[in-house]
Amino acid sequence: MMMRRSKINTSRVFATRIVLIIFLSVLAFPLMGSQNAQAEQVTFENVQFFYEYGNSATIQAEFTSKQPIQGINLFIHPDQQFTSVIKIEKFDQNQILQEISTANLNFYPFTRVYYWFEVNFTNGKTFTSSSFWFDYVDNRFDWKQRAFDNINIYWQGEEDQFAQDVYNTSKLGLEKITEILDTSLPEEFKIIIYPDALSLQSALNMQDQLWVAGHANPSLGMVILSIPPGPNQKLELERQLPHELMHLMEYQIAGPSYDKQPTWLKEGLASLVELYPNPDYQRIIQKASQEKNIKPIVSYCNQFPADASGAFLAYAQSWSFLKYINDQYGSSSIQQLFLNYRDGFGCEEGFEQTYGKTIFEVEKEWKKTMLNMDVSLINDISISSQQISSSINVYSPYLLLSAILLVPPFFSGLWLSYKRKNEK
Ligand SMILES: [Zn+2]
Repeated sequence: MMMRRSKINTSRVFATRIVLIIFLSVLAFPLMGSQNAQAEQVTFENVQFFYEYGNSATIQAEFTSKQPIQGINLFIHPDQQFTSVIKIEKFDQNQILQEISTANLNFYPFTRVYYWFEVNFTNGKTFTSSSFWFDYVDNRFDWKQRAFDNINIYWQGEEDQFAQDVYNTSKLGLEKITEILDTSLPEEFKIIIYPDALSLQSALNMQDQLWVAGHANPSLGMVILSIPPGPNQKLELERQLPHELMHLMEYQIAGPSYDKQPTWLKEGLASLVELYPNPDYQRIIQKASQEKNIKPIVSYCNQFPADASGAFLAYAQSWSFLKYINDQYGSSSIQQLFLNYRDGFGCEEGFEQTYGKTIFEVEKEWKKTMLNMDVSLINDISISSQQISSSINVYSPYLLLSAILLVPPFFSGLWLSYKRKNEK
């Protein structure tokens, strides 16, 4: 009995040892791996991204690594934009200090920019750092900032009352907007106010379009206005802010289809909710009507002309056309129009799907009612919107991302005087 028992004990001890060896080996492998992983860790400290707005930037960082490094890449990712990779040329003495041109990075003003490092070791392995970020504020100017509910307002100047006026106007604008569109604002958005159109144009790299006064980037939840101080400040705010807020709301309905929605629809509707409408729209449209210069609405399906006078007429016509549709067919039809375009219908098809009439038929009604034109003299127009769009100037690709533009009212005055001079 004893012997047998002892025999059993021996084989048990042997089995236990085997199990223990396997167990320890299993434990040891990850430990060895973890030691290697630790050797390939890089610690970054004092990381800073300095920049001069619209010009150049410098990345600075200190780092420590136990493994020899072959190269370092800097990844830059502005919110909702493409990621760029920049090779760090110098990283001597565990320090990075490199100038970067921001010209090709296309940072959008006031967006959050994320960046991180990828370290390649001589042993072929890589390490990716955690992410750092900064807000790309236009640091050519001093800004004041204040948050009301979900709205972040940036402005220049001393008066705190101005931010309150902006907030109050946004509330009034939203009341008017929600009379037409049944949707809600993004959870958070920014309103940035420049004191003049030139600074706004330079911030957006749009110096070639001197007629641009306001801009919205709905996917980023951002509205940028130019409101000069002075007696017209309130009127300009009441005109520009509801217009640009409407673009944010349109985006809430259209989503990713926003860029494909007809320009006459997006801009016409935004112009319609201006609390202080552009006083020149009616005048310019009557003049174009008298001169038989009214353009087919389908010529504004894909974009507006880039030249100032063409763009101005496009805004005026789209505003008037939307006013007619809203009065005649009701705001719910406009909401449905957005939804049909979101579902992929083309400019003409989506219209017919919504109203049961072609866009050309309703355009005729609009000309008769709003412009007092004798439509019996107008032949049925049947021009493909693609044909027209290929023959007119388009905005630069940079603008196409979010080209929501607004014409300042003073421009029309300039244009008229320019026209008068030329006519003389
Ligand atoms: Zn607009």
